[in-house]
Amino acid sequence: MTSPVASVVHQGTQVKLEEERQRIVISYVLPVYNEREGIFFFHETLADVVASRPEFDFEFIYVNDGSTDGTLAILKDLAKNDHRVRVVDFTRNYGHQLAITAGIDLAGGDAVIVMDTDMQDPPEISLELIDAWRDGAEIVHARRRTRQDTAFKRLTAHAYYRMLRHCTDVDIPLDTGDFRLLDRRAAEELRRFRERSRFVRGMVASMGFRQREVFFDRDERFSGETKYPLYKMLRLAVDGVTGFSTAPLRLITKLGFAVLTMALMGIAYAVGMRILRPDITVSGWTMLMVAMLGLGGAQMLSLGILGSYVGRTYSEAQGRPLYIVRQVIRHDED
Ligand code: UDP
Ligand code: MG
Repeated sequence: MTSPVASVVHQGTQVKLEEERQRIVISYVLPVYNEREGIFFFHETLADVVASRPEFDFEFIYVNDGSTDGTLAILKDLAKNDHRVRVVDFTRNYGHQLAITAGIDLAGGDAVIVMDTDMQDPPEISLELIDAWRDGAEIVHARRRTRQDTAFKRLTAHAYYRMLRHCTDVDIPLDTGDFRLLDRRAAEELRRFRERSRFVRGMVASMGFRQREVFFDRDERFSGETKYPLYKMLRLAVDGVTGFSTAPLRLITKLGFAVLTMALMGIAYAVGMRILRPDITVSGWTMLMVAMLGLGGAQMLSLGILGSYVGRTYSEAQGRPLYIVRQVIRHDED
């Protein structure tokens, strides 16, 4: 028989447990670089979209990646007016990949959604990511069905993702940027990846977990221009390959074999002519030039490939901090 006191205590704990069963929190990680014209509208839209899910609590982490156009003032305003907003202010521009890294480092939610702040990743799709997560997926990638970027960007991205998939062991999902949801566990694991040259989508794909894709149509940028000029795109592309594959290093060996084979054929030809037709001097200017330039080119290329891996090793060995935060701005602070 339970004593009345015990039963009261028991009930008391139960009520407390109910209270303590926390509401599910979803963190949004939102990198921002010079988005003065669009960022306010973006936040309004996102806030409207998440209002349809009152069963969850939300947290919006804006990472100001060294904007120079007054974006920070707008972000501060957002934080002042919305208690769910936090602003992480970098000391300079560290790039998109590090901005999302800082956001994920700080996110405290049960799920973390990373998305761009230029309306190219439609906020309403993030709800579909949440649904897939509630359905049991631990990582949900938003995959582009169509996109509205320039023909050049569409073409190069299309080819790149297929090439990357071909030369890495990691199953990197096709046509997927950094718009995705990570379960709390996946986010925790991702925080342990501290490499500097980051290709976050590859790191996520390499982690395993139950992964799923949600398709979406990528809109045009709401305002302003892309903050990914060609050189940044190229650097990211190189980081993707060197971070997840040693295929370029193996290419050097193949190149070496090809050159060696040609050299042996050349030697055989020259010696053969010397023995069989000593009366003819092989006129060799063209041959020499071709061989020299070909060899020189192959060597430079090989050095370049080696260099990019050595450079990577060097910058990792330095072990410097990935980014420096000037301040974190919360609702009740200035
Ligand atoms: N971004 C950033 N730092 C950068 C470049 C871009 O935080 O150095 C942000 C930018 O504000 C946007 C997202 O990353 O929210 C994607 O950038 P963008 O739209 O310019 O790239 P695209 O969509 O053209 O590939
Ligand atoms: Mg964009």
